[in-house]
Amino acid sequence: MPGAPLLQQLIDSFCCLPGVGPKTAQRMAFHLLERDREGGRQLSAVLLQAMDDIGHCQRCRTLTEEALCQLCANDQRDDAQLCIVETPADVLAIEQATDYRGRYFVLGGRLSPLDGIGPREIGLDQLAVLLAEGRVQELILATNPTVEGEATAQYISDMAAGQDIPATRIAHGIPLGGELEYIDGGTLAHAFSGRRKVGF
Ligand code: ZN
Repeated sequence: MPGAPLLQQLIDSFCCLPGVGPKTAQRMAFHLLERDREGGRQLSAVLLQAMDDIGHCQRCRTLTEEALCQLCANDQRDDAQLCIVETPADVLAIEQATDYRGRYFVLGGRLSPLDGIGPREIGLDQLAVLLAEGRVQELILATNPTVEGEATAQYISDMAAGQDIPATRIAHGIPLGGELEYIDGGTLAHAFSGRRKVGF
């Protein structure tokens, strides 16, 4: 790509976005160049700053430019409930769909031994430290209902059992193989409130 005309480099760069193929990328590039250069400059400035400055919350691992995210820094949230999700997008989905007032922990993936993703890669050593603090009284397992998401939930419920912390699993209404982020709010709210005890 380096060395190609700048226009082609711009089109190729848009192709890194999910769901964007060459045709859409081309349309985006032409739109910015012909109709919205100011929007394009704004996009590139914010994009650069976001890529440089947004990291992960030291406590829950969600995305934030601060040391602690807004949810972890909020002392009105309930330390007794800890909800385990796979991605920062899942945090948003649950915040928007439910009246949950507890805390979160973001795995940033799911156990997948064949891909070399073990407990450490999804922060379970950090989660163990959090659980050992003794404030969590309910662990809510909101990983996706995929094979790997279920295996991850099982692994974490065993960790919780080792600390005598009850674990619940969100369940009904979420289609097998579904992703929380794409489920409508009503279904997610129902699944969240209908969580069942797991483990022991
Ligand atoms: Zn946080």
